[in-house]
Amino acid sequence: MNAHFETVELTLDVPFTISRGTTTTTENVVVTIDHDGETGYGAAAPSRHYGETTGTVEALLPELVAVVENAESPHARRAIHEEMLSVARDNPAARAAVDIALWDLAGKLLDQPVYRLLGLGDDPESRPPTSFTVGIDETAAMKRRAREAARAGYPVLKVKLGTDRDLRIIEAIRAVAPDVDIRVDANEAWTPKEAVRKCRELADYDVEFVEQPVPAENPEGLRFVYERSPLPIAADESCLTATDIPTIADRCDIANLKLMKTGGITPALDLIRTARAHGLEVMCGCMLETNAAIAGGAHLLPLLDYADLDGSLLLEADPYGGVPISQGRFDLGAVDAGTGALPR
Ligand SMILES: [Mg+2]
Repeated sequence: MNAHFETVELTLDVPFTISRGTTTTTENVVVTIDHDGETGYGAAAPSRHYGETTGTVEALLPELVAVVENAESPHARRAIHEEMLSVARDNPAARAAVDIALWDLAGKLLDQPVYRLLGLGDDPESRPPTSFTVGIDETAAMKRRAREAARAGYPVLKVKLGTDRDLRIIEAIRAVAPDVDIRVDANEAWTPKEAVRKCRELADYDVEFVEQPVPAENPEGLRFVYERSPLPIAADESCLTATDIPTIADRCDIANLKLMKTGGITPALDLIRTARAHGLEVMCGCMLETNAAIAGGAHLLPLLDYADLDGSLLLEADPYGGVPISQGRFDLGAVDAGTGALPR
């Protein structure tokens, strides 16, 4: 096996704002692994919030590439994952790029799409659609973007909150998108009491669930909100890997996994099983990421209750194609082998 990596600059379709700040361009690091005439693609979308940058990913990848090149087989993903953990425990996005590329490569070598390697079927009815995310902006601009997304056929909108006009935003969006599911994400912006009040108010607008209402550093605050909210609560910043599940299990309804937090598909499977064992629903989200990474997450869809895999949809142009998507629904049946990620 031999592996390479390359940093790509990605421009967003519109500036993307959440409660923590605004992004206009982002960088991903694409990993390619060659073996027996096939090439697997994966990517890291590092997040400063979790202590990673393209610099930390680029610094670690030579070591992770060496792990892959020394492995007995590209199919030994569990052993490679354990070895990568010992080299780069605190760098899940870097590990995710390699793990996703290995799954893509394995699928191509075996001539099977990744969901089949995971023992899953491709029944479109059993898979959740992805939400389309509306970032924080002037209320009128958020309303316009929501209306466009609803008209384009997206069945689910995820609305970023954490402003001094949260309720007005949802009222405005609900008025122009009466038939779509609306979920909200506060990205840790609220205090526990504020969160309970907002959850009660948001319930009037038929909001599906509320993601990460309070800071991850306040697990008791999460419990306070969970015990009082009429709406289901999802944990994102509070839920990084399978080992977080026992702690959040009695403080939320939904575990939001991301390949960039777990370190790829292999450990994401551990998180999903652990969450199920604790009675939680499971969602897969993403960072601002290219299809080279998103395509990996899409193959987990048959295992999920909710999906927020719109990272590539928010880019002005993605250098990689992935699993074909229409109106928020990924067509896994269209993938012949691997994840479906390919350079355009
Ligand atoms: Mg979130």
